[in-house]
Amino acid sequence: MKVHQIGNRTFADTSGEGRGNIGAIELQNYTVIIDSTLFPSTATTFRQSLETQIKSPIRKLVLTHYHADHVFGNQVFKDCEIISSVQLLHRMEEQARTFELRASDLKERPELAELKRLEMTLPTMTFEKTMSLRDGDFVIEITRVGGHTEGSSFVYFPQERILFSGDLIFAKEFPWAGDATCDPQEWMSALNLFKELDVETIVPGHGSICDKREIDKYLEFFEETTAVIRDLIDKGFTKREVLQYQDFPRFYTYERRKGAHERRSETFARWYDFYKQGSKE
Ligand SMILES: [Zn+2]
Repeated sequence: MKVHQIGNRTFADTSGEGRGNIGAIELQNYTVIIDSTLFPSTATTFRQSLETQIKSPIRKLVLTHYHADHVFGNQVFKDCEIISSVQLLHRMEEQARTFELRASDLKERPELAELKRLEMTLPTMTFEKTMSLRDGDFVIEITRVGGHTEGSSFVYFPQERILFSGDLIFAKEFPWAGDATCDPQEWMSALNLFKELDVETIVPGHGSICDKREIDKYLEFFEETTAVIRDLIDKGFTKREVLQYQDFPRFYTYERRKGAHERRSETFARWYDFYKQGSKE
């Protein structure tokens, strides 16, 4: 874990140590954190290291979406205002009711043991569509776009032309798009919106810092792959047949990564359901 300064007032750790990335923007009088990683221990290390590099106190945490690898470190910021979309709050309330650490999970991934002491820490302030944080000469714009999950939001810091995309971008990786609320059409709209923004640097939800070229790659993959799935549905393919289909466009080296086969299958299964449902309307 290393806190990288990526702008005059912007910081991020994209090492993957906390699974999801974590970032920060220092405004005039206070500092805002973006996402909290899967592990309270990683969030603590990030916070302590960041506090040696900034002059203002950490006052707010903004969450891009409800997945565990972006919100389970929240307890480290329980002294802060925790901001999210309304949809995220509802998903996290459900998560708080249903989350359990199974013995089989711990056996497979012993590093999850620290989550035995997880304090599920929910947002304290929500927004419907957008929220701006203004402080002195600075502004942070938060916008819900959906796509990866229905509550997925991005954080834009125009003064430094930096975008925190959340999991709408897994830089140089095949994305996980298997959430039950994943909407590939909204995802493509979000990517097109990113193209319109004046952005030089992107901090993705996973993977290293990237730039707008990654958005073009993502759009191409989404457009081609969803077209194939829609075409297969029109031809009467079942979900099982779609998952066995061999001629999807290649996108990064998903076939070599651990768990990559599941990630791909879960993604295509969700997209099949999404377009199948749409084709019946
Ligand atoms: Zn996610």
